[in-house]
Amino acid sequence: MKIALFGPPGAGKGTQSKLISEKFSIPSISMGDLLRAEVRKGTALGKEAKTLMDEGQLVPDSVVIGMLRDRLQGSDCDGGFILDGFPRAISQATVLDEFVKLDAVINLSVDDRFLIQRITDRRMCPCGTAYHLVFNPPIRPGVCDDCGEKLYQRDDDTEETVLKRLKVYSEQTKPVLEFYRKRGVLREIDGNKSIACIRHALIEILDSLPQ
Ligand code: AMP
Repeated sequence: MKIALFGPPGAGKGTQSKLISEKFSIPSISMGDLLRAEVRKGTALGKEAKTLMDEGQLVPDSVVIGMLRDRLQGSDCDGGFILDGFPRAISQATVLDEFVKLDAVINLSVDDRFLIQRITDRRMCPCGTAYHLVFNPPIRPGVCDDCGEKLYQRDDDTEETVLKRLKVYSEQTKPVLEFYRKRGVLREIDGNKSIACIRHALIEILDSLPQ
């Protein structure tokens, strides 16, 4: 099962891909998490990426495509994987198509008016689990339910940067939908619904894919 979750920032890609990863025992590969790991390590690549991420811009293809190729070579990807946040441009979809044929690209469409609150009230754990102060709060405020680490707010989850990220999404990422529609692998889910409803819809789609 090789799938990608698609949608604007705040659509719930990260939350859903983690849930689906547990259910189907396949890795969830978040390009944003891979980049943030480089930032935390303080590598040259991480420093370059951080400047762009804080501005809400895309990191160059030359960086993200290499990182994805390396990650997909992991033996845990042999039985399939879920991509979260890749591809984010037609150029990325074109290169990916040369080395991986995705079985499904699932678009979580969400009204713009919900996205800003979803992102600015989001809190993250370094382990990658995402919370929302209102819709999906942790059991103990400020602490991850899964690993007990302290939660933090991403530097790019401010209202100002979110607006830039949404612009980048509509100009550079949204056109990728057409690429996958033409290949007949695009599926749609109403991402305005609750986490549980979206998870249910996703599982239905994944269960219906040819084995
Ligand atoms: P995310 O965690 O998916 O919200 O991604 C956070 C940031 O990482 C984005 O705003 C981009 O700066 C960068 N990023 C993530 N995925 C990609 C990608 N496929 N191509 C370029 N930049 C990316």
